[in-house]
Amino acid sequence: MNKKIWLSSPHMGGGELKYVNEAFDTNWIAPLGPNVNEFEIGLEHYLGDKVYAAALSSGTAAIHLALVLLGISKGDEVLCQSFTFSASANPIIYQGATPIFIDSELETWNLCPEQLEIAILDRLKHGKKPKAIIAVHLYGMPYKVTKIQELAQKYDIPIIEDSAEALGSSVNGQKCGSFGTYSILSFNGNKIITTSGGGALITKNIIDKQKAVFLATQARDNAPHYEHSSIGYNYRMSNVIAGIGRGQLEVLDERVTARRNNYNFYKLNVKNKNLLFLKEPAGYFSNRWLSCILTPSFEIREEIRLSLEKENIESRPLWKPMHLQPIFKNCLSFNNGNSEKLFQVGLCLPSGSNLTSNELSKIVEILNSF
Ligand SMILES: *Cc1c(COP(=O)(O)O)cnc(C)c1O
Repeated sequence: MNKKIWLSSPHMGGGELKYVNEAFDTNWIAPLGPNVNEFEIGLEHYLGDKVYAAALSSGTAAIHLALVLLGISKGDEVLCQSFTFSASANPIIYQGATPIFIDSELETWNLCPEQLEIAILDRLKHGKKPKAIIAVHLYGMPYKVTKIQELAQKYDIPIIEDSAEALGSSVNGQKCGSFGTYSILSFNGNKIITTSGGGALITKNIIDKQKAVFLATQARDNAPHYEHSSIGYNYRMSNVIAGIGRGQLEVLDERVTARRNNYNFYKLNVKNKNLLFLKEPAGYFSNRWLSCILTPSFEIREEIRLSLEKENIESRPLWKPMHLQPIFKNCLSFNNGNSEKLFQVGLCLPSGSNLTSNELSKIVEILNSF
């Protein structure tokens, strides 16, 4: 059997172990310490120094804390991009709130401004003002930030920017992860940089960051004993894995370049004109976390996926929209058919920053045989 080609595998830079060893040498084996602090400073700097980062155990935890900080609770409604990974939506349920799913437009595959406004007006008509909008930069392609921000301002609804897949992406030079009222990052094993598992909540002021860290460390009030006046969580990032994060941040720009090179290689060498790629709108810069293609039909998509699988090459259909998921089937959704269509015909190709040119050529060869 050929060596497996993965969709998106971890890619260490070499500097990580130095920081991990520092944690061992100084016995900072805890969910706090110098690596956590330095990793946060590194993230803040990367995002443009106008934000604050709280390093957490996962991106999902970051979305959950964003909802908690916004005071979202039982009975509240939250608007959420339907075309995404379930982790964007699950924390709404953790809070006992109700997700309402919004379909995508076709230029970025993200939150459709028209459907979003229809949904907001519908909820207002029913006397239910949505408490937040969860917008996602799927596969690293930024959502329509200007239009979504205009709507958020017009109706005074905070945005939770799910930038789990978009570290390194930007719009007109502004980095994804710095647009939302709150933003979140993920450092899961498959993301553009990884700490094996981890995430961050990005806030616009230090008070919000302090609140997030307080909640993430079991909400201990200021007292010599353990005193609690709110419910806390165990969501802080470990100082050991923050060391991996520090090493990974040093190679982040290289990782973005490598992923973009994958995309460009596919785009240039896939000669089959029936396979379509998602272009960057003017001013948009995608980290191309995953390179995706649209095929003419579900049947052809499956044929391609299975031929790759036969060669031990992992590929995957695009995200199945949340409004089609069994667990969310009773939720209200505002649809235009786009995400359902994308799910039917779209395929994510191997996109790791550590793919070799031989591996890429082999994949292209299979794609060109259709
Ligand atoms: C990975 C991911 C998350 C969750 O991040 P974890 O760190 O795995 O909890 C959330 N949203 C999107 C869009 C993701 O891809």
